[in-house]
Amino acid sequence: MLGTMQDFPLTVGMLFRHGATVHGDSVVVTFEGDHSRSATFREVAARANQLAGGLTQLGIEAGDRVGTFCWNTQEHLEAYLAVPSMGAVLHTLNIRLFPEQLSYVVQHADDRVVIVDDSLVPVLAKVAADLTNVERYVIVGDGDCSALAEASPHVEILRYDDLLRASPAEFSWPDIDERSAAAMCYTSGTTGNPKGVVYTHRSTFLHSFALCSAGCLGITEDDRVLPVVPMFHANAWGLPYVSWMTGADLLMPGRHLQAEPLAAFIAQERATVAGAVPSIWSELLRFADNDPDSVDFSSLRLVPCGGSAVPRALIEAFQERYGVPILQAWGMTETSPVAAVARPPKGTDLSDPAAIGWRVRAGRALPGVELRIVGDDGPVPWDDETMGELEVRGPWVTGAYYRDSSSDKFNDGWLRTGDIGTIDDLGYVRITDRSKDVIKSGGEWISSVELENHLMGHPSVAEASVIGVPDARWEERPLACVVLAGGATLDVAELCAFLGSRVAKWQIPERWAVIEEVPKTSVGKFDKKALRAQHEAGQLEVLEAR
Ligand code: ADP
Repeated sequence: MLGTMQDFPLTVGMLFRHGATVHGDSVVVTFEGDHSRSATFREVAARANQLAGGLTQLGIEAGDRVGTFCWNTQEHLEAYLAVPSMGAVLHTLNIRLFPEQLSYVVQHADDRVVIVDDSLVPVLAKVAADLTNVERYVIVGDGDCSALAEASPHVEILRYDDLLRASPAEFSWPDIDERSAAAMCYTSGTTGNPKGVVYTHRSTFLHSFALCSAGCLGITEDDRVLPVVPMFHANAWGLPYVSWMTGADLLMPGRHLQAEPLAAFIAQERATVAGAVPSIWSELLRFADNDPDSVDFSSLRLVPCGGSAVPRALIEAFQERYGVPILQAWGMTETSPVAAVARPPKGTDLSDPAAIGWRVRAGRALPGVELRIVGDDGPVPWDDETMGELEVRGPWVTGAYYRDSSSDKFNDGWLRTGDIGTIDDLGYVRITDRSKDVIKSGGEWISSVELENHLMGHPSVAEASVIGVPDARWEERPLACVVLAGGATLDVAELCAFLGSRVAKWQIPERWAVIEEVPKTSVGKFDKKALRAQHEAGQLEVLEAR
């Protein structure tokens, strides 16, 4: 027997209409460094309407890919709203990809039009000669775009505002099948070529509802949401759509992502929710600790943080010194991205010191997503001990990669995440490593994440990254690469003693290296591949402690 409910498609267009009407007075603020500009949702919606009309006049049709090569700005949000709602596919391009990867993804996705911030023209111009599929560049801002014109003389270049001005007054939004493509993102491709993930309208809709629910971020129209996480990094974790649909004001940092301007923007605009990867918060913390009078974090009620394991010391420092609760979340480009959050269980408040044991974990599945840990013999018990690979499934988890038939990432309807960890009786997942980063010493696993977490809790250590290196006796042993805190010197005996009270003795690294900074990936994660390459090339000065 079928139900009697209306078969109403779950689309980005529906979210768009809701924010534009019910929350028309909410605002989008874009930071320009020395000042901010602001527009109401009503005004943004009118411009999104013009953008859809302008793109249609350029010949963009349902299913066509429209790339964006932009910072987090009002115009980028307009593309987020207009492109999927007109039936085309928004392809957010990572502005920090290596040139060969950037050119690969633009061609692989077959982007017809790319919207480009004027400040990023020189970056895109470097690969433009290869992008034979691109028919037009639409430049946001009135900055110089001659580099792009020289690199691709046969491609038409238009200004974003001219496109909007020339657009017909009213755009007629089409009906859209909820299973059709709304947006696409490529994984940052730490191994091999990036892989494309295509979000549907339905997956985006459901992910947005899960994300704003009270058990997740609990975003409402009283919030002022600052996505520091780039809009090309897994749709800024869904924050733009969630803010739009709930009427939360959106605070767009533009290209001002360094600690000083970010701190100023947070204080000026009274951000209540701000999401970024751990390395950004570590930088902000150092900045704040050096100059406590120049920061004001008092407006922040929640800081969603993920993308890599959030160090315990970071969570504790923000909580204790600034009263700011960091909420760890776990996800992947493949999972839209948020699939789990580390809220403590019933009866324990996030800011309660007793909650820290849960907050340092990757979290529990959101309703709608299922998680399991799979070992050599299948799913393992939820005992917090048995290790295996994390697998995930649900309506906002990808079931394939775009134009890529490699199937080793899927197991009987589940996505294999490549993350290794455990799960406890309440469903809290603990990630000990990515499978490509695990350290196997004499057949036993050593968690690099755990060692890093402890080391970053020592006052002399600003950042720590632990990699496995070959060892004659144990096959592999950990090498601890540390960035010292300002003014500190390396005291290996002291750090070993510090670790000795926290991990088993055989796990303590005997190899140590001081580095200037941990290399980071294009989305700000520790780049262990780069660190391993530095070690293999003999570029790290390794101290042996026996
Ligand atoms: P890429 O795979 O290219 O790095 P993603 O942003 O999709 O890009 O990365 C997803 C991965 O990030 C996860 O598989 C996991 O390894 C890591 N990750 C995300 N959140 C967390 C977290 N809270 N703790 C540990 N690892 C995390």
